[in-house]
Amino acid sequence: MDFTLTDEQKMFRDQIFRYGRDEIAPLCEEADLKGEFSFEIWKKLGSMGLLGLPFPEELGGSGADVVTCCLAGEALGHAGVDGGSLLAWGAHTYLCACNIYTFGSEAQKKKYIPKLASGEWIGCMGLTEPGAGSDAASMRTTATKKGDRYILNGSKTFITNAPVADVIVVFANVDLKKKHEGITAFIVDKGTPGFSVGQPFHKMGCKCSTTSEVFFEDCEVPAENILAEEGKGWIIALSGVEWDRSTLLSPFLGSSIGSLELCARYANERYQFNRPIREFQAIQHRIAEMKIFVEAARLAIYRVASSKDNGQMLNPLQAAVNKVYAGDVGFEMASHAVQIFGGYGFMHEYPVERNFRDARLGAIGGGTSDIMRMIVSRIMLM
Ligand SMILES: Cc1cc2nc3c(=O)[nH]c(=O)nc-3n(C[C@H](O)[C@H](O)[C@H](O)COP(=O)(O)OP(=O)(O)OC[C@H]3O[C@@H](n4cnc5c(N)ncnc54)[C@H](O)[C@@H]3O)c2cc1C
Repeated sequence: MDFTLTDEQKMFRDQIFRYGRDEIAPLCEEADLKGEFSFEIWKKLGSMGLLGLPFPEELGGSGADVVTCCLAGEALGHAGVDGGSLLAWGAHTYLCACNIYTFGSEAQKKKYIPKLASGEWIGCMGLTEPGAGSDAASMRTTATKKGDRYILNGSKTFITNAPVADVIVVFANVDLKKKHEGITAFIVDKGTPGFSVGQPFHKMGCKCSTTSEVFFEDCEVPAENILAEEGKGWIIALSGVEWDRSTLLSPFLGSSIGSLELCARYANERYQFNRPIREFQAIQHRIAEMKIFVEAARLAIYRVASSKDNGQMLNPLQAAVNKVYAGDVGFEMASHAVQIFGGYGFMHEYPVERNFRDARLGAIGGGTSDIMRMIVSRIMLM
């Protein structure tokens, strides 16, 4: 196994890092304070081709492989782009557009991917419901066939990008008795009668992403808007979620590299007891823990990415391991950074405060750490 990056990959990562640092990161603090999705940040991500990275050039994408997508996540996190903007980017690209690209018909791909890849349209994905989170397959949203249309009824919650989205990939059950086998994925456009979006939630972190409920009330969707075919929705949901779980670690890796650099600088500059705090073992150990996380996270993320590039199926065990690592250990690292900064780490002015709030989502969104541990132990005890 060779994890050496090519010169081209290194150049790409450095270029995205510089762009993120100079053009996007300066906008993040204000957007985070306002707690608003920033269309300016979105346009900047789009103008660098970052919103269409994995799609082929003929559909308006950049034709990037999975390793390159992860390099982009790492570079943006390292550059100080906030977790909310990266969450918005991930939900749009991996949960919405990738599902359409992987499972959609040629007509669906032609209609949606170019506009999603350029950022002209924003995408989201609706799986979670008020009564069905970890147990998403117990969803109650229904799709009833009527001629060449389906009538959707139900609601979804915690949907990233929903308040600004032009298109949603949504999961509904055509026959609740069939359980998983009835779950079907639909593409629904903004403005479709019967489809509406709730008020944005006020969140603890990832504030530059916007999140809300969505509602379907006798919402008529043409049968041609089904992704793949009726009853294939659960496989699509798992594929999107596993993809997200596997790659999620890359922005965490990036923001941890950024925090580590800030902490090392601060530990040299900050004096207490007439000496720089870097001389205290408590600080040294936290710096060491952060570096150990960065090294292990790098191996974990690029191992999954390169195996996917080599045509292997995503491995649910590895996806769950990576997700726990990002969510739990990544959050612990963000906490170390706050501790190294002391009182200043608690203040808005320092990015470590925002990273800490943003990192808390890692153990919840896209499947909680408890559920990931359940998957790991279930596979190990089979
Ligand atoms: C900011 C944000 C953005 C999100 N974006 C999206 C999105 O774009 N699209 C989307 O569909 N969803 C999205 N989600 C939803 C997210 O995936 C769910 O919140 C998550 O899957 C957990 O579901 P829940 O919140 O209903 O918690 P619950 O499932 O109710 O869990 C509550 C607690 O019980 C524990 N628990 C539940 N079952 C078990 C079990 N079997 N064993 C052990 N412990 C268990 C959980 O770990 C947790 O601690 C988002 C959530 C947030 C917070």
